[in-house]
Amino acid sequence: MFEKRDFYINGKWVKPFKSNDFEVINPSSEEPFAIISLGSKEDTEAAVKAAKEAFVKWKETSKEERINLLEKLLKIYKKRFNELVEAQSIEMGAPIDYSKSDQTAAGQSHLEDFILRLKDFKFEEHFDSKSNNHICYEPIGVCGLITPWNWPINQIALKVFPAFATGCTMVLKPPEIAPISPMLFAEMVHEAGFPKGVFNLVNGDGAGVGTQISGHPDIDMISFTGSTRAGKLISKNAADTTKRVCLELGGKGGNIVFADSYPNAVRDGVRNVMSNSGQNCDAPTRMLVEKTIYERAVKEATNEANKINVDLASKEGDHIGPVISKTQYDKIVDLIKIGIAEGATLSAGGPDRPSNLSKGYFVKPTIFSDVTNDMQIAKKEIFGPVLCIIPFETEEEAIKITNDTEYGLGNYIQTEDKEKAKRVAKKLRSGLVYINGNSLDPGTPYGGYKQSGNGREGGIWGLEEFLEVKTITGWKQ
Ligand code: NAD
Repeated sequence: MFEKRDFYINGKWVKPFKSNDFEVINPSSEEPFAIISLGSKEDTEAAVKAAKEAFVKWKETSKEERINLLEKLLKIYKKRFNELVEAQSIEMGAPIDYSKSDQTAAGQSHLEDFILRLKDFKFEEHFDSKSNNHICYEPIGVCGLITPWNWPINQIALKVFPAFATGCTMVLKPPEIAPISPMLFAEMVHEAGFPKGVFNLVNGDGAGVGTQISGHPDIDMISFTGSTRAGKLISKNAADTTKRVCLELGGKGGNIVFADSYPNAVRDGVRNVMSNSGQNCDAPTRMLVEKTIYERAVKEATNEANKINVDLASKEGDHIGPVISKTQYDKIVDLIKIGIAEGATLSAGGPDRPSNLSKGYFVKPTIFSDVTNDMQIAKKEIFGPVLCIIPFETEEEAIKITNDTEYGLGNYIQTEDKEKAKRVAKKLRSGLVYINGNSLDPGTPYGGYKQSGNGREGGIWGLEEFLEVKTITGWKQ
């Protein structure tokens, strides 16, 4: 058990104002492995004050100064890469190889991309040659960054790097159940030599530090990633100070598998849902299968789910680890039981722990077939390794079912007919549409429609979220 009770405020690690210990649990063993502190109002106040004071000078820094510091941070990130791999694996249960190839690599790729985008970004431009109006893009100010546990460093990267790049200062509140990699990240920021107060970290829970940040009058913007539940509470609490609120929330992605899909489409869809133990907000958790290939698809999906190993996060190799916490485990198991009670066919997995593991928050890769879109398992974001298979007959019906959800983050299309794929992609109400397993390029915008949130992270869209736009008339006089 190790202790990491301090917060990073105004360029140094400081003791919490009041002691409020919190045990961080290893989800593979259900045992605590670290102690942190949950902050109080005084800690939040000290962090916001430091960020507000630092903004005065930081907003005046040149793009080159900020690029220079980000490049130093990139070197340190690469040097300490394996520490982040280990930390994310133990705190959130990512298998060690996945933690390296995906979780930690994602943070590095965002940093590299933001440096490139920043180099090309114009913070000033003339409106047009006939006009005497001038447009300036200026940092919005002090930002409150609230992040989730499912991709701890990736989500920090999508907020902290563009905030640095645009000249904003910030208070980061990482998830209390996965706070170790964020604290290592704060050490890296310190080592890179960012001026004091530009970046501050206070640990805490949603009801405490999270709420203090979202309602704070000296915070100009909140960037939040997490549940739709918390996103709504944050928006309400932020309303009195009319701060900008950017939200990346949940999802319930549809994956339309047409009869003319490529041979591995069903198997890839299953692997995609199960990766990260089903804890991806853009996971394709509703597989819609054209009726003519439905029976074959259910068999393929079942076989594939049965092939996926579930094991300790510390083990090397290709498997899935536990889900993050007892709360999430109980929620997922309850929803699996609800699916059975609702009359869906349990084709693989189920509510019991895998037989090779006697403890830990492990869930079997689970497939439900014969699901209808009005069942709770098709409506609620389960956030575990659970796939629902729903049959459809026509293209119109597939589009209707896919869009019949309160979410709109990631949807997927599988067909060899390129024109059909493009036609359907344009009809889907979501911020992301993935055709035939193609992935996102670095620097493309990421975010959702409807209750999956607002705003976009990544690339120039990610930079613009942190900027105010100013029009100055009479520039040429
Ligand atoms: P959560 O919303 O409970 O917690 C996320 C963060 O918000 C944590 O730091 C938590 O302490 C904080 N928080 C909770 N309540 C708060 C409040 N009232 N005010 C301020 N802060 C508060 O969610 P979670 O269980 O940690 O994460 C899982 C959820 O996040 C899933 O629903 C998932 O889809 C969503 N998610 C979305 C994306 C995306 O990019 N769209 C990415 C990751 C996770």
